[in-house]
Amino acid sequence: MNIVQTPPSTLSPELLARFAAIVGEKYAVTDPHEVAPYLVEERNLYQGRSPLVLRPGSTEEVSAICKLATETKTAIVPQGGNTGLVGGQTPHHGEVVVSLRRLDKIRSVDTKSNAMTVEAGVILANAQQAAVNADRIFPLSLGSEGSCTIGGNLSTNAGGIAALAYGVARDLVLGLEVVLADGRIMHGLSSLKKDNTGYDLRDLFVGAEGTLGIITAATLKMFPKPRSVETAFAAIESPEDALKLLDTSRNTAAGALTSFELLPQIAIDWAVNYNSSVRAPMTGPYPWYVLMEISSPRDDARDTIEAILAQGMEDGIVLDAVLAANLDQRNGFWKLREIVSPAQKPEGGSIKHDVSVPVAAVPDFLIEADAAVTNLIPGARPFAFGHLGDGNIHYNISQPVGADTAGFLARWHDVNDLVHGIVAKHGGSISAEHGIGILKREELPHVKDPVALAIMRSIKANLDPLNIMNPGKVL
Ligand code: FAD
Repeated sequence: MNIVQTPPSTLSPELLARFAAIVGEKYAVTDPHEVAPYLVEERNLYQGRSPLVLRPGSTEEVSAICKLATETKTAIVPQGGNTGLVGGQTPHHGEVVVSLRRLDKIRSVDTKSNAMTVEAGVILANAQQAAVNADRIFPLSLGSEGSCTIGGNLSTNAGGIAALAYGVARDLVLGLEVVLADGRIMHGLSSLKKDNTGYDLRDLFVGAEGTLGIITAATLKMFPKPRSVETAFAAIESPEDALKLLDTSRNTAAGALTSFELLPQIAIDWAVNYNSSVRAPMTGPYPWYVLMEISSPRDDARDTIEAILAQGMEDGIVLDAVLAANLDQRNGFWKLREIVSPAQKPEGGSIKHDVSVPVAAVPDFLIEADAAVTNLIPGARPFAFGHLGDGNIHYNISQPVGADTAGFLARWHDVNDLVHGIVAKHGGSISAEHGIGILKREELPHVKDPVALAIMRSIKANLDPLNIMNPGKVL
């Protein structure tokens, strides 16, 4: 990592000291080397700057920080695990970073209500484990689950590989505790499924990317542990055939179909090259693959997945298939899926799109986007993969072999415009699960309904009139 030269603070030493006094010297980070990791993000697209990272240890400390920020008109940027992919957690203009990572307690687990209350800085994998310890599951599952936090998951309304069955982060939260820009605390932690007492304020903060308030805790839904889980790779000819297999899978498994991921051969090849512990699921090559998982409350997942694959073969859709024989093999399948993202790095520049279209439109979208992109940049290598069951494709374009990386990446906006135009034609979204942040902020006014955008702006002005809460993000 490059060592970051944090520019001179624009905050007076007195103000820095007032902020530091809230959390205690130990948790007020000013040493540039210690601040540095909070300023860079996964894709190295942005380099932030900040004189101060505050690491509060309680909701009250978060509240005191916000109060002081409002009093002194100091801009702040909430940060969780710093795994966001749209630059939302980066302090681009010298803002104070408020890292929620120390708020990492599981406050309560209530198996009768199937709900648990956790603090915002709890790592997603730890929340999953807390549910497992109570013989339940918390089904949100992302490649970054070992480092992203519940606060970040809710603030980005994260999706992931089990959204097909359980929904996105928004669908998995019952109540929230939120600190507003002026320091007031909204006590909305509740495990009620039914509560029709006015406007839905909880959902306002989910997906707000830290622009309306700081989430300090959340009550999350838990689900019964499935009694049987089966995972399989199926080789197929085309995304069109993947759709047919999705149809068969839904008709056979109904709600037990938890994941349905689409991967091209190039993804398998690059993942295997990137990480020697990853194995190709079968001897190919085949044009495309589906990675599917069935999680059943009964002992019938094996029968179900076998029935799906047998039907797929009978219909001439499934060319070959392999069922995970044991937990190790199942983990190996998912490891391969996780490696697909980083495996693109050695191939040079990659222009990313996190888009969704109606599930039925995925094959046409891919055909049209591939043609348009390779026409614009001959030799560019489309690398489309992701959550087909949700119509959410990570449509990435790797640079032509041997091309100049900087020159290729300079076409980022041209390529985005082209791809997003095709997404719009199919009634899709330019941000399926990563959010808007700063990466897509300029594009939002072109794709969002103007009345919806005006309502968003008035909500922001009302809750954060001084624009201190993650300014310049989303809007
Ligand atoms: P951060 O990156 O720290 O912050 C993200 C945003 O939330 C910022 O705008 C920040 O200001 C705000 N924020 C953070 N905490 C709070 C808080 N407590 N209160 C208010 N605002 C807050 N995303 C998916 O949706 N699906 C995937 O499958 C997926 N896979 C990924 C795989 C990898 C390898 C990586 C690196 C990322 C992936 N992501 C995925 C993106 C990312 O992990 C998610 O967006 C995640 O939810 C971010 O959580 P975080 O704690 O890291 O948040």
